Amino acid sequence: MDEAREVRTTCPYCGVGCGVLAGIAADGTTTVRGDPDHPANFGRLCSKGSALGETLGLEGRLLYPEVLGKQTGWDEALDLVAEKFSRAIAEHGPDSVAFYVSGQLLTEDYYVANKLMKGFIGSGNIDTNSRLCMASSVAGHRRAFGEDIVPGVYEDFERADLIVLTGSNTAWCHPVLYQRMLAARSEHGTRIVVIDPRRTATADECDLHLALDPGTDVLLFKGLLTYLAQAGKIDAGFIRDHTSGFDAAASLAEADAPSVARVAMGCGLTATDVQAFYDLFAETECTVTVYSQGINQSAHGTDKVNAIINCHLATGRIGKPGAGPFSVTGQPNAMGGREVGGLANQLAAHMDFADEANIDRVSRFWGAPNIARRGGLKAVDMFQAVADGRIKALWVMGTNPAVSMPDASRVRAALFKCDFVVVSDVTRTDTTRHADVLLPAAAWGEKDGTVTNSERRLSRQRPFLSPPGDAKADWRIVSEVAARMGFGDAFAYQTPAEIFREHAALSAFENDGERLFDLGGLIDLSETEYAAFAPRHWPAPERREQQARLFADGRFPTPDGRARFVPVRQEATAFTVDADYPLALNTGRLRDQWHTMTRTGSVPRLMANAPEPAVDLHPADAGAHHLKDGDLAHLSTRFGFVRARVRVTEAQRRGQAFMPMHWSGQFAAKAAAGLVSSPVTDPHSGQPELKHVPARIMRE
Ligand code: SF4
Repeated sequence: MDEAREVRTTCPYCGVGCGVLAGIAADGTTTVRGDPDHPANFGRLCSKGSALGETLGLEGRLLYPEVLGKQTGWDEALDLVAEKFSRAIAEHGPDSVAFYVSGQLLTEDYYVANKLMKGFIGSGNIDTNSRLCMASSVAGHRRAFGEDIVPGVYEDFERADLIVLTGSNTAWCHPVLYQRMLAARSEHGTRIVVIDPRRTATADECDLHLALDPGTDVLLFKGLLTYLAQAGKIDAGFIRDHTSGFDAAASLAEADAPSVARVAMGCGLTATDVQAFYDLFAETECTVTVYSQGINQSAHGTDKVNAIINCHLATGRIGKPGAGPFSVTGQPNAMGGREVGGLANQLAAHMDFADEANIDRVSRFWGAPNIARRGGLKAVDMFQAVADGRIKALWVMGTNPAVSMPDASRVRAALFKCDFVVVSDVTRTDTTRHADVLLPAAAWGEKDGTVTNSERRLSRQRPFLSPPGDAKADWRIVSEVAARMGFGDAFAYQTPAEIFREHAALSAFENDGERLFDLGGLIDLSETEYAAFAPRHWPAPERREQQARLFADGRFPTPDGRARFVPVRQEATAFTVDADYPLALNTGRLRDQWHTMTRTGSVPRLMANAPEPAVDLHPADAGAHHLKDGDLAHLSTRFGFVRARVRVTEAQRRGQAFMPMHWSGQFAAKAAAGLVSSPVTDPHSGQPELKHVPARIMRE
């Protein structure tokens, strides 16, 4: 029997990226505790993280490859995958195949999948479920800073005097960050403003809650820009020396949001509350604005992000301790996916397709025979292409689009119709039932690689269990398919450390500092150093000074070194409520659940607080629809319907309904929020509008 030991690893649930110590007793039982030395959490864990040890059972695990529902060996399954993909490419071209991947993949898995699709198959058709999570932040960062960069670090939450949380139920979705904010508040009185149509657990603790009308965030922040300019609270020196485009952004803001009264009316707020927020922001130098899915999941999410960043640029509150715009990501490795180029519109290592030099550089680095020359299909468009037969072969890795994609009925129909579907995953899901080939992937506790959290900090996920059955690492599965497609030389990896070194080398390849994403200082990590790798921020360039907080010098990775103000307009939501669909449906997370519950749904104590699907309604709306607390209701939108238990709560704004996004498995057919969500997307980011869908409700 093995000796008792403790392994340092990282929580696989959210973008906070907490350090975890997994203890394995001599009898094989596992315990989990927060890593007191990890700089993201200093020993804290939330309810989900602390229950990780209870999710390690084999119930529902995929243990062996399957072809058309029959267990088989790896060779037969992988031969078939390679043959079907190769044949589709030969007959219909490289754009007839696609990968839909996940923020659950480790950076090494992501890197290999991206390299195969973009460098060797020759298509941009690899997109990720992170498209549903933070694509608008990526697009907003690129417009403002020239590169997808979160400038700040978590320590800024502790050094801020004002934290503005907008579109973020931080208390439930990033609980350990919220604990850090509250600890700082009790120490030095940090003010907290929450901007959210719902009165969430986060709003319960704040100094000011702005329950604005859904989709009016751009107007609120344009009004703030106007107010700052009118009150003389802008940093004229910073604007002059380090930015461009202020005048255009400020005049458009003034035209649309000329006064507090006008903003209050447009946002459905009182002028007193708007004034209080603007005064707090104007007077507080150390302000961090945190934004998340309430901003991103919108048909105008990118403009919302830039409306926020505009206010930080106008006040010079960026790159300074306790100040900056701060996007927090939902998934454990959404950032790692962004770094390798796992979004369809990215190429690799923060290089995109807009510049031929990037394509040439990556092609030479990879020795890629068929490099993609343009971006591929983003998630919603990818499943549309599957539906109409343009995609002949699809590989879904580590995600459950049959539940999580908007307009999920159409996605399920597309998967059903698709010529060839491969799913590699840890457990059976609503998506695996559509697979021609099922491939068992290693799970958390078995996987070995790196993730990047929301403050650009790379951490290791380390294995402490052996994969059960025939399960194996995603990078190995993809590499073995690549070899069968004739690309073995470029995918002959033996360890994840080898892949990490190559990823680091690509980030530094012909990079004279024009791209801040640079891991050049990590190219030579030995296997031992990789095994012992301690959490650290990127950039990690060779022979250059390390920086945790970026933009402190006022230089940005744009051609002229200046950050860009982006003039933005307040636009209506994609659909507006009407007599047929009088409620605005919003979706989001529960405190104790993760994604489509494939892991957390198996833990009784995590299920206890919300054991069945529910829809939240304001008492007045419940009364108007002859519903009372606990009734079973039928909720429908233009895209489908669900059944859920009514929860009557004053926390819900009148005219709005809220449903958790998680329900799957036995509830997938009747309660998956994806069934009623809208596939309309932001034109810049391709992110769907999951926060505002007109709905109607009646007693079941
Ligand atoms: Fe895991 Fe996120 Fe909870 Fe930390 S806050 S323990 S990363 S789910």
